[in-house]
Amino acid sequence: MKNLPTIVLATRNNGKILEISDLLKKFPVIIKNLDDFGPIPEVEEDGNTFEENAYKKASFTAKILGLPTIADDSGIVVEALGGAPGIYSARYGGTDATDEERCTRMLKELEGKENRKAAFECVISIAVPTGAALTYEARCEGLIAEHPSGINGFGYDPIFYYPSFDKTFAEITRAEKSYVSHRGKAMREVRDEFDKVLIWIEQNMPIFEKFQCNGL
Ligand code: IMP
Repeated sequence: MKNLPTIVLATRNNGKILEISDLLKKFPVIIKNLDDFGPIPEVEEDGNTFEENAYKKASFTAKILGLPTIADDSGIVVEALGGAPGIYSARYGGTDATDEERCTRMLKELEGKENRKAAFECVISIAVPTGAALTYEARCEGLIAEHPSGINGFGYDPIFYYPSFDKTFAEITRAEKSYVSHRGKAMREVRDEFDKVLIWIEQNMPIFEKFQCNGL
């Protein structure tokens, strides 16, 4: 019988692991994440775009573990801030700042500004150990609210107002958010093409990964 392929999610974030595993649950694959392995060196996210960082995370992990890997990189871009914080979203206000402090800082920077347009962006990279990769991306547009509102979600959710729901992302459920969010949309694209992705992985895995050595 053919062994099921293993795919690694290059994250330790439980929310992401649940969301992605759930979307891929119907496929014949074993999904692992970084916590299923021993200590793995941290990837430096020093790319200039979400795409570069997602690819760095996916290809680095794929090379180190010798397994196909899915990684994502995301953040918020705010028009009145010239696209900031963008790829620096997780570090906006300093690496030690809390999500609440980051939201407060953003509201302060936008004080008195009429243009509140913002978008979450997400790029998903699927890489094999040779460095070959596939890329998926999606965007979710909204506005930065005047005040934080809601307790769900994480990051900038309390200040990200989504007009067609008339709510912030912190005021809706995880399922509602996933339906319209950058990550949800990008991951559904991956899911819809996952049969093809599995064939691509099979064709691009280094030859030694495809065959098991039975002690010969
Ligand atoms: P990363 O993709 O895990 O590197 O996350 C980048 C940063 O972007 C996070 O730490 C959050 O601050 C922000 N971010 C990304 N996606 C979301 C989201 O869905 N809601 C709120 N903040 C987000």
